[in-house]
Amino acid sequence: MIREFLLQALTFVLPPQCLLCRDGPEWRHGLCQHCWQSLPVNHPACPRCALPMPRPLVCGTCQRRPPPFDRVIAPVRYQEPVDQMLCALKYHEQLAFGRTAAGLIVDWVNALDLPLPDLLIAVPMTPRALRKRGLNQAAFIARRIGRALGIPVPLGWVFKVRQTERQSTLNARERQRNLKNAFGCKKRLDGKRVAVVDDILTTGSTVSELTTVLKTAGAAHVDIWVCARTVDASSG
Ligand SMILES: [Zn+2]
Ligand SMILES: [Zn+2]
Repeated sequence: MIREFLLQALTFVLPPQCLLCRDGPEWRHGLCQHCWQSLPVNHPACPRCALPMPRPLVCGTCQRRPPPFDRVIAPVRYQEPVDQMLCALKYHEQLAFGRTAAGLIVDWVNALDLPLPDLLIAVPMTPRALRKRGLNQAAFIARRIGRALGIPVPLGWVFKVRQTERQSTLNARERQRNLKNAFGCKKRLDGKRVAVVDDILTTGSTVSELTTVLKTAGAAHVDIWVCARTVDASSG
């Protein structure tokens, strides 16, 4: 009993420990200096879709078929330990990793010195999926970024109309068909600069569909802000 009390008291006095290794003191956005510096930074990458590349040149896919969005911001690659962090956030509700993910995006946006969007839109879930999982990790990350950069994060403007099959089981054409008319937007966004927020970008089919919906609603410019980019365009 006394031991428990003392341990609890210590957590208030001592600096918070690293979320990943639980070893070193927190240095930045929940991680110790060692873990922070060992993150797989996504550079160089395609300036359009953020696909990891040997040089920072527009990738073949974007050259052949430019995506509907204007630019992807993805500070890290979906590799160890980022995969662990984002799975912990998504499936085990370790919200603290949402702070790390948002912090990474904010630092990257600040470093690139990009013009800030007028609003952030989190990739929506259906109400049923949200009840089941209990957390929309994209909305959680978007709210934290919004607070840090002073950008509004309107909830409910963009919604998911119907449940779609898990994208990871489908090929590119099936993905597109699966997502057709999956999203809706209930506001006009004429002339607005929008950034769509999610945790991971894989093939980009979800955010492409969402971008088309936002541009149809009048958005002038749509960027995609995610924490991590998968290394291989065809994986997941
Ligand atoms: Zn650490
Ligand atoms: Zn590309």
